[in-house]
Amino acid sequence: MKCEIIRDLLPSYIEGLTSEESNQSIEDHLKTCPKCKKYFEEMQASITAPEIDAASKAEIQPFKKLKKKTWRAIGVTVIICALVFGGVTYYYNHGWIPSSEDVNMTCEKVGDVVTLSFYNKDKNVTMTAYLDYSTKDGSEQITLNARHANPFKKSMRQGAYYGYTFIDDSIVYNEDGSKRKLTDEDILVIKYKDKDVKIKIKDLADGKL
Ligand SMILES: [Zn+2]
Repeated sequence: MKCEIIRDLLPSYIEGLTSEESNQSIEDHLKTCPKCKKYFEEMQASITAPEIDAASKAEIQPFKKLKKKTWRAIGVTVIICALVFGGVTYYYNHGWIPSSEDVNMTCEKVGDVVTLSFYNKDKNVTMTAYLDYSTKDGSEQITLNARHANPFKKSMRQGAYYGYTFIDDSIVYNEDGSKRKLTDEDILVIKYKDKDVKIKIKDLADGKL
C-alpha cells in the first residue's frame, strides 16, 4: 500500500473504525515504514488521552471549586439571615418599662367614660398597659410597657388606654359590672421605670388630671 493511502486511513484506524483486513495492512506497513510510523504516533498522541485529560481536568477542577464556594456562600447567607431575622424579631418584640419623661399622659371624658391615654414621645414606639391585680395595699396598679412599632403590623395601636365608667362623681363600674363607691383610698398607681405616679380615681371624674 502506498503511504498516502495508509495515512488517509490512520484517523479511522485510531478510532477503531477500520476493518480487520485494513488493520492488518496498516500494521504491516507501520512495521516497515518509519515515516508512517512516526506520523501515526504523532497523530495518535494528538487525538487520544493526554489532551482529553487536560481538557476534562480544566473543566472539572473549577467546577469543584465553584461548588465548594457555592455551598459556603449558601451557608454564610443562611447564618446572616438567621442573625438578621433574630435581631429584627428581638427589636420588635422585646418590651421595656418606659420612663415617665418619655410618655405623654392625657385624660379625656366622653359621656360617662373617662379614658387615660399613654403615648410614647417617640412615635415609633407603641405602648400597652397591664393591670396588676396583686398589689399589696389593694390599690389598682397599671404597668406600662413600651415596644418598637413593627412597620409590618400597621394595625397595631400606638397608645395604651385605661379607663373608668363613672356613674356619678364618686361611683364607678367595676369590670364585673358591680358598682364601687370611691374614697380617697381608691388610688390608681401608674408604674414607670423611674417612679410611680399615684392618682386618686375620684379626681378623674371630671375628665381632667
Ligand atoms: Zn509509509
